[in-house]
Amino acid sequence: MLIRGKCHCGNISFSLSWEPDPAEIPARACGCSFCTKHGGVWTSNPKGVLRVATQDPSLVSKYAFGTKTAEFHVCTRCGIVPVVTSLIDGRLYAVVSVNAFEGVDPALLGRAPMNFDGEGNDSRLARRKRNWIADVGFAHRA
Ligand SMILES: [Zn+2]
Repeated sequence: MLIRGKCHCGNISFSLSWEPDPAEIPARACGCSFCTKHGGVWTSNPKGVLRVATQDPSLVSKYAFGTKTAEFHVCTRCGIVPVVTSLIDGRLYAVVSVNAFEGVDPALLGRAPMNFDGEGNDSRLARRKRNWIADVGFAHRA
């Protein structure tokens, strides 16, 4: 399955290849302070292939807080956050926002709340290495 998504104005878009086709896409409503304010709901497939394209990189704000181990890619034109990345041991990992999906049947989403507050840094990064998308590429698309 090829999942496509983008921010509201289209400045940040992504494609996520998910093989084999998912019976269910986990949709984690994150309970961190940023995601609570933003309504962040994320998914990832460790075997997925994510390609992110940006029309105007100057209109992307990378926001980090707390442990500063993850960057939220915020479109500064429309305010949507389609992608979060984490650089771990020289490799870029990512999750994508199910709210930014385009044309995906909502019935596929298995929604569940998550809260990782209080998790130690080592276990946090180890969890991301296990669960986050490990094949991540960014491109500038004019
Ligand atoms: Zn946008």
